[in-house]
Amino acid sequence: MSDLYCVFGNPIAHSKSPAIHAAFAGATGQDLIYEARLAAIDGFLPAVSAFIAAGGKGANVTVPFKEEAYRLATRLSDRAARAGAVNTLAFNGSEIFGDNTDGAGLVRDITHNLGFPLAGKRILLLGAGGASRGVIAPLLAEKPASLFIANRSADKAAVLAHAFADIGMVNAGSFSEAAGKSFDLVINATSASLSGESLPLPPGIFAPDCLAYDMMYGKGETPFLALARAQGAAMRADGLGMLAEQAAEAFFVWRGVRPSTREVLADLRAKLAT
Ligand code: NDP
Repeated sequence: MSDLYCVFGNPIAHSKSPAIHAAFAGATGQDLIYEARLAAIDGFLPAVSAFIAAGGKGANVTVPFKEEAYRLATRLSDRAARAGAVNTLAFNGSEIFGDNTDGAGLVRDITHNLGFPLAGKRILLLGAGGASRGVIAPLLAEKPASLFIANRSADKAAVLAHAFADIGMVNAGSFSEAAGKSFDLVINATSASLSGESLPLPPGIFAPDCLAYDMMYGKGETPFLALARAQGAAMRADGLGMLAEQAAEAFFVWRGVRPSTREVLADLRAKLAT
């Protein structure tokens, strides 16, 4: 019988994860079934319990359950403990292992797929929500020169900077406090692009050979990437590569095999364009 995996979320109908993992399984010869499961907003725990009882081996977790998954895990990876959120669960007997592959996915997309090394770079991270928190430790592990976290609510950015100050050079402030500074990499980890909104970013923050990276992806250019282009950012990328890479990392956690993301990413990109 095939091993069973799923992604829990609410909403979940438009998740690309089942197609991504089916492609990974086919390419690596792994015998598994991966499906999308809608959990009620107040029904995450029963949904996971029912899945385990049905023989489920592992699950991805997306909005809004990542913090609940963190609390549910009986053992956490270091990166999940740092992130305070879990996007990957593995079930083994009575153990529920919680991991977070979002940061590794982002770093691999930037360094490997986009060929942009992070060592010595000045990084601006926009946003102080769950996605931002999940990528800070993996970014700092690449030894950038500095990391500045800017958020609409500056106090939340300060809390994050404080939480990671023991592992790297992290500062924080409002968007306007980034004025007068210039960055080699600017990552949009806010959800502003979801609602089509532009961020009030000060001019001059994009260094001439800067990479502007929006975790958001979709058809066409996001407002953040349009702004980055207008302000002269040489390289621009959306978060589709991060999506594929975090999935590949989860697949590796479960199966011990790392699938190539090249074909999956090309396929996702082609489907987005239509
Ligand atoms: P959260 O809701 O936890 O955080 C949202 C953040 O966006 C907060 O910092 C919030 O600021 C800020 N924000 C929201 N609206 C605006 C606005 N209009 N102007 C300025 N700031 C705003 O969301 P997540 O951290 O979970 O997700 C953030 C983004 O990352 C989403 O677009 C999500 O789709 C994407 N993502 C992509 C992944 C991928 O694989 N590509 C993986 C995970 C996330 P404040 O604190 O002031 O409210």
